[in-house]
Amino acid sequence: MSISNPPCPRCEDGVATLLATSPVPGVWQVFQCGTCLYTWRSTEPARRTERASYPAEFRMTRADIENAPQVPAVPPLRGRP
Ligand SMILES: [Zn+2]
Repeated sequence: MSISNPPCPRCEDGVATLLATSPVPGVWQVFQCGTCLYTWRSTEPARRTERASYPAEFRMTRADIENAPQVPAVPPLRGRP
């Protein structure tokens, strides 16, 4: 893939930025979506790199992201038994 800012495979309006490139030029690139933070390497299969092939059950909308529950806090340690 040679596109510098591909659309995000996971969320509907995310655009990726180039995060890293292969040490050997032109072999692979790593992209990250600025909206949902999904990150992928250009050489991964279509189900991980192209929106049309990304599994429907894992796709996200902006509303999904904004309404995502917060990660629960780690509870205090229980006392020793
Ligand atoms: Zn995204």
